[in-house]
Amino acid sequence: MIRQFQLVEAVRAYDPNVNEDGLNRAYVFSMKAHGKQTRASGDPYFSHPLEVAGILTEYKVDSATIMTALLHDTIEDTDATFEDITAICGEEVAKLVDGVTKLTRIEFQSDQAKQAENFRKLVLAMSQDIRVLLVKLADRLHNMRTLHFITKPEKRHRIATETMDIFAPLAERIGMQELKAELEDLAFAELNPKARRSITRRLEFLRERGEDLVEKVIIELKLVLANNGISAEISGREKTPYSIWRKMQTNEVGFEQLSDIMAFRVVVSNLEDCYKTLGVAHRRYPVVPMRFKDYISTPKPNGYQSIHTGVFGPERQRIELQIRTSDMHAIAESGVAAHWNYKQGEASKDGKQYRWLRELLDILEHADGPEEFLEHTKLEMFQDQVFCFTPRGDLINMPTGATPVDFAYAVHSEVGDRCVGAKINGRMMPLRSQLRNGDQVEIVTSKAQTPSPTWERFVVSGKARARIRRFVRIQEREQYEKLGRSILRRSFKDEDYEVSDKGLAGVLKIFQQPSVEDLCAQVGSGHIGGRDVLEAVYPGVKKKPEAPDENIVPISNARSGSEKSHDEAVSIRGLIPGMAMHLASCCHPLPGDRIVGIVTTGCGVTIHTIDCEQLKTYHDQPERWMDISWGDSTHTQQNQVGRVFLSVANVPGALGDLSMVIAKNNGNISNLKITNRAGDFYDLLIDIEVQNVKHLTEVIAALRASPVTHTVDRARG
Ligand code: MN
Repeated sequence: MIRQFQLVEAVRAYDPNVNEDGLNRAYVFSMKAHGKQTRASGDPYFSHPLEVAGILTEYKVDSATIMTALLHDTIEDTDATFEDITAICGEEVAKLVDGVTKLTRIEFQSDQAKQAENFRKLVLAMSQDIRVLLVKLADRLHNMRTLHFITKPEKRHRIATETMDIFAPLAERIGMQELKAELEDLAFAELNPKARRSITRRLEFLRERGEDLVEKVIIELKLVLANNGISAEISGREKTPYSIWRKMQTNEVGFEQLSDIMAFRVVVSNLEDCYKTLGVAHRRYPVVPMRFKDYISTPKPNGYQSIHTGVFGPERQRIELQIRTSDMHAIAESGVAAHWNYKQGEASKDGKQYRWLRELLDILEHADGPEEFLEHTKLEMFQDQVFCFTPRGDLINMPTGATPVDFAYAVHSEVGDRCVGAKINGRMMPLRSQLRNGDQVEIVTSKAQTPSPTWERFVVSGKARARIRRFVRIQEREQYEKLGRSILRRSFKDEDYEVSDKGLAGVLKIFQQPSVEDLCAQVGSGHIGGRDVLEAVYPGVKKKPEAPDENIVPISNARSGSEKSHDEAVSIRGLIPGMAMHLASCCHPLPGDRIVGIVTTGCGVTIHTIDCEQLKTYHDQPERWMDISWGDSTHTQQNQVGRVFLSVANVPGALGDLSMVIAKNNGNISNLKITNRAGDFYDLLIDIEVQNVKHLTEVIAALRASPVTHTVDRARG
């Protein structure tokens, strides 16, 4: 176990600005917090965060990251809270620890291989500060190194699969080559022990036969390069059993044919020497075909730069050479960590967190062909995405700001169309709630539901928006058509004609409409007048009077209109408020009220109560007035809102009494506003959803009977 002062010294060795005080505080806090807890190995639990911190010193990360490593399990596994850590180690570290904790809490379902990419994106999206991901990867590495202590085989298998599918690729993506290779090999040992054993046995056999082949090759390569005036650091190693195994899988070759089990790294001081070294190697040794790759001129998306080539080396063994400069080498070994370390000098003390991500993305910018470019574009998008789970554990990704409605549409269009409610993490929440990473969302559906135009105001995904718009557009057209037919029926009846599709079909050309339905929709939306259509169908009919008689319009017209039989007024039966027909918000007309319509070209008709003050505004536009009836039924499909004005005694429980009275009479309060709270009485405006005017009258009567009310009246205008 590393000791406290050793850890501080390890950080000081690469960072003279080490936060010694902070490291000591984090060390002591974590040790105390974990107390007597132990690991599966029997070691004190504290040895684990300490090892994780130790791993991270190899990547030369800043003090805050090391402190985070020391504390990374305290929120999850001890009594320590976010506030405790903020108090002792500051907010920056507390936030990082919180980030790691959130990652730890995600339950991966990596048995579904197709989901792995989504899970990787989830982890990236949740690691808003890349240091969170670094700590998580180091944590995973130490857990993998100690995996054999876990007794349950299923648990070992699950952790190893997760490592292989999610964490190793993440390490690779941010360029931590070495860490990735170790994670993969440890997971390989758990997942396919037989294959790994046979590979290691074969490696041992080759090693014995070839004696110290690696050493021999290094000595000769050094000599050859020196003779050509190149000084180089050369290191050689056997490839990991997993990388050999994977090569066997992808190349479909047997182990016997697979001879390049050694890779040599030639690190030179400058770019020129890289290509010089390549020239020397290719002149001196026969080249293995198809193995040459120049990642210097075209770096990998994670920033990796190197020249790779295969030759039949000094001992006639196939070997791989990786040629690079020392700068490239540092990045190849620790990826983003190295990159960040270089720039640390420039970074301001307050830790520009998002700079990290920018830099990561900058590295990724150097994509390597269309596929990788695509991969990169996806990556750039992940910060704008939110990832949530279905109850079955499937991962759904959506744009940031997504709501349960977006989620429902992402699951299936049908689910979207029919959604009426949502449970987020087991709690009923409004459909417009914004989802957060990792939320589990359950959609409640109803066969009776249809997409609501109001959803369009809060959905953010293209799919949901398109679907809702399409539905609304179709619906709207149907509504305009319905209203149009009603208007035409009325106009025709005025002159004792019957409207027929056949008659309308004959005048389509005149109005430049492709179909009878379109013509009706145009009439409904107010673009074409009903009377104009009548005059086109029956040219003999007498022309509309040029100027309307002032004695008739508008109020008297409306009055006389409403006194006519229902046949002669335009029926709005079956029309959905908010589309072709709008209920005015000034007077809140209710089914059963005497009403009049005001036509607005392109928006259909707005319904006012006949005594609405607002109607005065339209006195000089008689052509916009329309006789309207609720139709045969005084019930619309949905409840409508009636507004009530009350004066209420200022006594405890008064509001409770009122809401009880309203509820008992099957009214539903949709809005409530106190307009005046002076003295012993106060004034209220309450919007109540009711079926019709009769229903509202009943509610008002019941309210008047309540001892707490002084006056109750329907509010208008
Ligand atoms: Mn841990």
